[in-house]
Amino acid sequence: MDRVSLNKVIQVIQGTSVLADQVAASVEGISIDSRTTTPGDLFFAIHGQRLDGHEFVAEAIEHGAQACVVKHGTETGPLSQPLIAVDDVNRALQEFAGWYRSQQQATVIGVTGSVGKTTTRNMIHSALSPFLKGVQSPANYNNEFGVPLSIAQIELVHEYAVLELAASRSGEIQELAQIAQPELGVITGIGPSHLEHFGTLDQTADAKAELFEQLSAQGLAVVNGDDPFAESLISKTSARTLTVGLGDQNDLQAVFVRQAHDGIKFQFEDTEYFVPARGKHFVYAALFAIAVGKEFGLSNQNLIEGVCQFASVPGRCHVEQIGHWTIIDDTYNASPVSMRAACQILKDWSGSGKRILVMGDMLELGAESRRYHHEMGEFIAASGIDLLFVCGKQAGAVVQGAVSANLSRDRIVQATDVSELQSDVVSCLEVGDVVLVKGSRGMRMERLISYLNRQV
Ligand code: ATP
Ligand code: MG
Repeated sequence: MDRVSLNKVIQVIQGTSVLADQVAASVEGISIDSRTTTPGDLFFAIHGQRLDGHEFVAEAIEHGAQACVVKHGTETGPLSQPLIAVDDVNRALQEFAGWYRSQQQATVIGVTGSVGKTTTRNMIHSALSPFLKGVQSPANYNNEFGVPLSIAQIELVHEYAVLELAASRSGEIQELAQIAQPELGVITGIGPSHLEHFGTLDQTADAKAELFEQLSAQGLAVVNGDDPFAESLISKTSARTLTVGLGDQNDLQAVFVRQAHDGIKFQFEDTEYFVPARGKHFVYAALFAIAVGKEFGLSNQNLIEGVCQFASVPGRCHVEQIGHWTIIDDTYNASPVSMRAACQILKDWSGSGKRILVMGDMLELGAESRRYHHEMGEFIAASGIDLLFVCGKQAGAVVQGAVSANLSRDRIVQATDVSELQSDVVSCLEVGDVVLVKGSRGMRMERLISYLNRQV
């Protein structure tokens, strides 16, 4: 973060300085976690769902916080560093981030959608970073706290910042976009994720469209044109629009998509692209990166080089070798869209070994959860996998769906938790087998990956 004087901070967040004689100092970073606070940070004592940051003000100062933003009436002292008191610390964090963003030169690219935000954001950063100076949101920082922290990574030297924006309720993307003020917006697609909060797919689409609504007429809205909601999303923006996808109705179309051994290939504008990752959905991420890259004046030749540097991260379709087995670690999260995309990878897998799926529940699907799991069972059966290990409260629905679509019952092992499946998975594994492991975050399917690593 560029240096900001405490005087300026106080003015922006309309705070009251508790130790007035220190306000000449400046801050060069922001933090909401005292464990990772570093010298020079401005610590915001956020009241989160589980913890109250006010309990960690002293620790933040010990770690070098230059000043702390606290709620009026909670000031304790005397402390060695200034406190800035405000009515609402969470709002102050957002006000500060919004102001800080407005001081920057970087073009901001906002990425939202039901699935693929992190993947797309990563791909865009891979494509741009060899040629332009910029930053992307760290980790999965995408909410009311993550977006301000991501914005604080931007500095005056940066030409772009690609930021992930997520929502679990309507109105949230609008608030985040008002802080991030993106010039470019990308909506990866609409699907049944967090339906418990949104209700219907239409409501999900409306919530994501808030990103497009915030763009100015000079801005650019990019959407997956193969998504049934593409048209309605586009209708919400006054910005220029681009659709990307595999269908020939798209402004940017990928053709001749094929899975090679070490990645996926496609052609765009007679240029051959290669993404070192497995799964057709990476083609969409690459197309988004191409659309954004072109807006920055990059050529296909530049973009081939950038996209090729993409590296998948553990937990998101990450292919690794554990002993003699190939493991696809997709344990970070799961929804019907991403589960289908993952099953498609197994279906397309060429190799002599068995194709094995270890699946945990897809959570937060609301009232229709059972139906989604039943349908997934049917889809799995049609994917031609050899063995299905399934766990969770909805495992029964998956099994029913799979059996109804003719997956033989003796190819299925069912349990309540992944820990009960571990030894069965290992005992059936042979040289050359491929195992896809996937479930929602709450299912903690990564425990199986750790277990497999301990077996070799
Ligand atoms: P979150 O809301 O948790 O931040 P996200 O939108 O950032 O999720 P990713 O982390 O990129 O999404 O991907 C989540 C899962 O969806 C991973 O398994 C990933 O491989 C898969 N995925 C990514 N892009 C797509 C896509 N376009 N279609 C289907 N699945 C996808
Ligand atoms: Mg994400």
